[in-house]
Amino acid sequence: VAKAEGRACYRFYNEEMNAKAVEQLKMEEELRHAMENHELELRYQPQISTDTCTVVSMEALVRWKHPERGMVPPNEFIPVAERTGLIIELGEWVLAEVARDCMRWQAQGLPDFRVSVNISPIQFSQSGLAQRMADILQRAGMPPHRIELELTESAIMTDAETNIEKLRQLKDIGLALAVDDFGTGYSSLSYLKRFPIDTLKIDQSFVADLDSPDGAAIVDAILALSSTLNLRVIAEGIETEEQLRYLLEKRCELLQGYYFSRPAYPEDVPALLRQDYKSLLNSVAVAE
Ligand code: C2E
Ligand code: MG
Ligand code: MG
Ligand code: MG
Repeated sequence: VAKAEGRACYRFYNEEMNAKAVEQLKMEEELRHAMENHELELRYQPQISTDTCTVVSMEALVRWKHPERGMVPPNEFIPVAERTGLIIELGEWVLAEVARDCMRWQAQGLPDFRVSVNISPIQFSQSGLAQRMADILQRAGMPPHRIELELTESAIMTDAETNIEKLRQLKDIGLALAVDDFGTGYSSLSYLKRFPIDTLKIDQSFVADLDSPDGAAIVDAILALSSTLNLRVIAEGIETEEQLRYLLEKRCELLQGYYFSRPAYPEDVPALLRQDYKSLLNSVAVAE
């Protein structure tokens, strides 16, 4: 009996594995067509300056509007794109689409703001990346200084010595650089100082954890570090007034999160820019 059961178990396990593999293959195949079928879309989430109380930048976030599955979150399809190499094409589509949106906003007379674009570690390791990005932006007539690339801490800290040169090339074509999900990887402080980066982005897990002494201590440390290294600093994932109040007290320079806005349709960006963030920030009483 035990033997028979063992076999049944094994077969069940196998079938489950198979179903997973088939599902993965199907998604890969569908993702290949998604770009041609215009199933990828962008959303934009505002990043607000505590100094000017205005939106100084927007983060572009990709969405896949699948005909049957509905909205597939990036955490599900970006890994598939990375595994298949499609991430290069996807990343270039995102940049070109951002440039098209910006040109449209400019024609509508909107004020200039930066757009943050997430770059996969796979795309970052591609050779000739800076030149390809420069070409895409030039074709679209988009000034590179309006784009900030978001690279994760682990992407730039792996093989850090080589990456200094890669980052330098991206800076040289006029792009700004941010370290995304900062605090979740293993940064060498000496490299952090040598990297030509502009912004540290405090990972949202620490903002979510601000009500614990440990979470607050980590946020404090990153704020101090960015001040010492003379970097811009942004807190992401702000959802509550308490989190906002803490970050205002600590003079965090830039703010992003559902508290201000969920990632929004490109059509809604003009309205987001017009919002009265000054009243909103002033309404959150800061203890002196
Ligand atoms: P990320 O770059 O760290 O982006 C932040 C994520 O947090 C986004 O999820 C955003 O919608 C979400 N978020 C923003 N504010 C809040 C908040 O107040 N609370 C909570 N709980 N979440 C908030 P999203 O859009 O699902 O993207 C997830 C990840 O997928 C991104 O993390 C990024 O790593 C990746 N990703 C998104 N778009 C792109 C892209 O165009 N290219 C690449 N390579 N990766 C992308
Ligand atoms: Mg990001
Ligand atoms: Mg992040
Ligand atoms: Mg992330």
